[in-house]
Amino acid sequence: MRIDVITIFPDYLNPLREALLGKAIQRERIAVGVHDLRDWTHDVHRAVDDSPYGGGPGMVMKPDVWGEALDEVCGSDPERMPLLVVPTPAGRPFTQRTAVRWSREPWLVFACGRYEGIDQRVIEDASRRMPVEEVSIGDYVLVGGEVAALTMIEAVVRLLPGVLGNPASAEQDSFSDGLLEGPCYTRPEVWRELPVPDVLRSGNHAAIARWRRDQALERTYRRRPDLLDALPERTLDAGDRAV
Ligand code: SAM
Repeated sequence: MRIDVITIFPDYLNPLREALLGKAIQRERIAVGVHDLRDWTHDVHRAVDDSPYGGGPGMVMKPDVWGEALDEVCGSDPERMPLLVVPTPAGRPFTQRTAVRWSREPWLVFACGRYEGIDQRVIEDASRRMPVEEVSIGDYVLVGGEVAALTMIEAVVRLLPGVLGNPASAEQDSFSDGLLEGPCYTRPEVWRELPVPDVLRSGNHAAIARWRRDQALERTYRRRPDLLDALPERTLDAGDRAV
């Protein structure tokens, strides 16, 4: 997979080179390009923003600079266009399902906004040539799209084959079966007078699986009842209904 990020703060994306993402680059599972939006400015101040039409506080990112940047980064081959991702709090929610869907894409380009956001015509214009998704990572407002892009890239890249040491861990994570994952424990068996639940030391795999499922159901019920509401009835077994 190829990933490009366009931003006015390229250094914000340095964590892309760390840990699991860094290893994915080294192993050539992903190729990453980070581009400074100001490289496409033509004035002495390298301005990327201007005041908003209709008045109001804050500045808006200029369409001409973004237009040139996207033309160059995304190219013009209709057979080979990326999925353009525009992080915005006004977007559709980014979820694990989105991450799974994007993990099948060959090429993602992230357009990181700042200030009040990017002139809407940039998105309209890009949509004429490539798929574009405006997405939000949550119901709060960040200062810029860089952290949102990092969040989404990490969620996508860990799903790519060969990136996680044990692919089964992604399959058992929260959201994969529509539930939150339950608690996990490691050695020592008793820590500060708190023991690991007996069942996990029993060696009874069926009982462990049942316990884990019950914990996931209970935790989801307590913390995210909205997820339970969305769970298809057919995915519940008799044991689930008893919880
Ligand atoms: N005026 C915008 C609004 O109210 O919808 C907020 C702009 S925000 C201050 C600046 C940039 O931060 C956005 O263009 C976007 O790139 C990023 N951003 C902020 N919150 C975000 C979120 N929840 N999800 C994704 N991106 C976000």
